[in-house]
Amino acid sequence: MGYYEQNVPPVRDARLKIGDSYQGHACDLVNCGQEGCLLQKGRGFWQANACQMALSLMMAATVENSVIIMHAPGGCGALLHSLSVPSAKGRGIRGKAPLPTPWLSTNLSESDVIGGGEKKLLETIEYADREFRPEIIFAVVTCAPSIIGDDIEETVRKARSSVSADVVILHCPGFKSRVVASAYDTFYHGILRGLDLTPQPWVDFKPLPEGGPDNELAEKKRLFQKSRTVNVWNATSIGPGDEGEVERLLAALGLKVRFFAEYASRSELRLVSEAGLNVSMCNVHDDYMLKFLEEKFNMPYVIAGMPIGFRHTRQWLLQVASHFGLEKEASALADYEEDLARKAIEPFLEQVKGKSVLLCGGVVRVGTEATTLQELGFNVLGIRAFHYDEGAAPIYEDVGEALPETHVSVSNQIFEMTHQIKTLKPDLVISHSGTGGYIAKLGVPSIQLFNVDNSFFAYNGIYQILRRIVFEFKNTSYRDRLSKHVKLPYKQSYFEGDAFKYIKE
Ligand code: SF4
Repeated sequence: MGYYEQNVPPVRDARLKIGDSYQGHACDLVNCGQEGCLLQKGRGFWQANACQMALSLMMAATVENSVIIMHAPGGCGALLHSLSVPSAKGRGIRGKAPLPTPWLSTNLSESDVIGGGEKKLLETIEYADREFRPEIIFAVVTCAPSIIGDDIEETVRKARSSVSADVVILHCPGFKSRVVASAYDTFYHGILRGLDLTPQPWVDFKPLPEGGPDNELAEKKRLFQKSRTVNVWNATSIGPGDEGEVERLLAALGLKVRFFAEYASRSELRLVSEAGLNVSMCNVHDDYMLKFLEEKFNMPYVIAGMPIGFRHTRQWLLQVASHFGLEKEASALADYEEDLARKAIEPFLEQVKGKSVLLCGGVVRVGTEATTLQELGFNVLGIRAFHYDEGAAPIYEDVGEALPETHVSVSNQIFEMTHQIKTLKPDLVISHSGTGGYIAKLGVPSIQLFNVDNSFFAYNGIYQILRRIVFEFKNTSYRDRLSKHVKLPYKQSYFEGDAFKYIKE
């Protein structure tokens, strides 16, 4: 049975050749990933890791007219308090009603864990449907019901006969994967199994009258429009600024762009299959969904890295354009845009020349941004990828060529990052959101690898990245004062050893 037919999605640890513990150089990392030795590596000591459920919730909380049900003990949904505001804001910016996503918990008790929580889940789905009248109900299955073996499929099957909403199951037991990115597959598995992804007659379109004289012309027009429509797959790390930049560039090639699946409604999601091409912004997010759409609807897809910096943006644009035979137009567009952007960034380049930088975060973004910064005159000291999988091989082959001597690690461990910052003493750290506080306590300049309020992609993005870096170098007050008054929880002797001494073969 293929992955898409299974009730429970595979975790990345089973689906791909992955790793979360490595240090060395890019070429060895690619080889190690291909040969499978990355799978053998681990650590003798781990700090806390993130739960994959969190990332699935970040995506689900953006879906319009939905309700989230946490099938869990009380604590698991705590994150939703902090997701409500950004997702409402994201809706507002995209021209939708800036409403928060309601969420409920089955609040499993000790006796539920012994006797089963299926009845509570059924009642909560029915309550959510009555009370909120949503289009989609996400039933989020966490560690406890997964361990006790609640029959979620049967419970949801019963619920579907009595509720008007579509019920989407998100299986995300945090214990099951060491790779948080499994959450993307969980979210898309729920969507592809729980929702109809084809337009409905009389709801989404008016069917042509039988034998009508203009039918042939109308059908040709529809097919042409479909062939020039591109689905671009977004994710929580991609903000409206980046969506706008991607849309601007693809629209300049005469393409119509739609973004999925974040911030889409049920009726918008039914249009997924009405496009000529699916375009990834990062294989870590969406390869699972794009392969499904190819298998199910025969839709081609493009996975061409991330459009960060001039070279990667040109490459991304050309690969999308080549599907439509528009390489010449894309190349001319890239020439024109590059010319403008190079003039715009000129004042920044002198100020950043030779600055040393450590990059930490998602595997695709850090590798892509590292080579971009090197091309702009930075000295890249190190790259820290949160995880590695075979989909990132083309990027790390490129890193291997451009930065053969640069240290590359696969690590999401804060203690290792702190060690590297203390010992490498970079002029700048570019890091995943949520880690800025640790870096500020060390008194080191840093900017976020991504955040939804700024732009990172393509020409607007590179200008903004450099502007933020220059601004950060000038504004030292916060981190200077914080680092003077904070005591770190490490002994000095820790920094005298190897940062990665806990990694084991
Ligand atoms: S690891 Fe399990 S119990 Fe902990 S928050 Fe995640 S789903 Fe809940």
